[in-house]
Amino acid sequence: MKVGVPKETADGEWRVALVPDAIGRLTEAGIDIVVEAGAGTAAGFPDDEYREAGASLGTPWDAEIVAKVRKPSEEELASFRSGAVLIAFLEPLTDRAGIDRLSERGVIAFAMESIPRITRAQAMDALSSQATISGYKAAILAADRLPRFFPMLMTAAGTVAPAKVLVLGAGVAGLQAIATARRLGAVVSGYDVRPAVREQVESLGATFLDLGVVGEETAGGYARELTEDEQRRQQEELERRIPEFDVVITTALVPGRPAPRLIPEAAVTAMRPGSVIVDLAAEAGGNCELTVPGEDVVREGVTILGQTNLPSTMATHASQLYSRNVSALLRHLVVDGELTLDWDDEITAGACVTRRDEAEVPA
Ligand code: NAD
Repeated sequence: MKVGVPKETADGEWRVALVPDAIGRLTEAGIDIVVEAGAGTAAGFPDDEYREAGASLGTPWDAEIVAKVRKPSEEELASFRSGAVLIAFLEPLTDRAGIDRLSERGVIAFAMESIPRITRAQAMDALSSQATISGYKAAILAADRLPRFFPMLMTAAGTVAPAKVLVLGAGVAGLQAIATARRLGAVVSGYDVRPAVREQVESLGATFLDLGVVGEETAGGYARELTEDEQRRQQEELERRIPEFDVVITTALVPGRPAPRLIPEAAVTAMRPGSVIVDLAAEAGGNCELTVPGEDVVREGVTILGQTNLPSTMATHASQLYSRNVSALLRHLVVDGELTLDWDDEITAGACVTRRDEAEVPA
């Protein structure tokens, strides 16, 4: 069984799907790896390291399985053989047309986003591994752009008050942002609509910001979208509370939906000049009304960072973690060197996004 690892071609994508460290265990499981020349270079993994680990260098597209980070471009799609297996982030909830193109091409596609969030699949949970990086990097970016210290300092030149940081949305990324901002010495508050989160925020030494708007947790642990009235109340409360903070990091997402609007323009302009907003939901449209996805904007002295794909900016560790997730899925799908697609298995069936015919067969 051969797995091909192409060099990523999406703009600004520096990650790679498998790192040299993963090759040994995959080879032991009967999986040979073919890496495209230069695939790991941008992430800090030169071709020689892949060779030394036991991979071969060559065209990845002839392999039975192709492991990628991002969905294939049109050109890459044309390189797939019918019946090939693809593993990547495929945006199944927001890019239906892309999934249909994969189906038409005869590709059996597994979306990393669709791996069920069950204990057995934790090692494959790439949404979590990459969100951990985004949360960490968001706090670092905020500290870098804020013209103030994060920690309290007592110096001969006087005492400096610590920065006040608010994290909106306390899922995987938000909790990591809270933990990182705390380690840097800021005074941190967190908020989420899922009631279960209060305890997690407090266990990290942060204060839970009570806005009086409580949502619900749906199956899989995700938030449901707020009603219009709840959204309005949430925005009004945040407009009142946000000016207390020097930094706001927003991470609120509802799967398959545009990011919820949490911060109206009025709340931004009420912040002190020099304040920083990092909007991790930029890719889904942004939690802040003034966010421009992919750009930094300054409005009335407030900097709003709308960078997308923060994991790529930490490509070495992002690839290392993603590679573990992909390896775990590969070892799940390949048994004794043979591709074994057990459609009765919750992980295999849940993650495959191109099984139109089979999906219609009643369970
Ligand atoms: P996510 O990226 O979908 O959303 C980020 C956060 O935004 C969530 O905490 C969500 O509640 C919050 N949010 C949504 N709308 C909001 C609003 N209007 N205002 C404020 N906050 C809002 O979520 P995620 O980080 O992927 O995590 C979702 C859940 O899945 C968490 O409970 C997490 O612990 C759980 N999880 C479970 C497993 C597992 O069991 N294997 C693995 C990872 C995560």
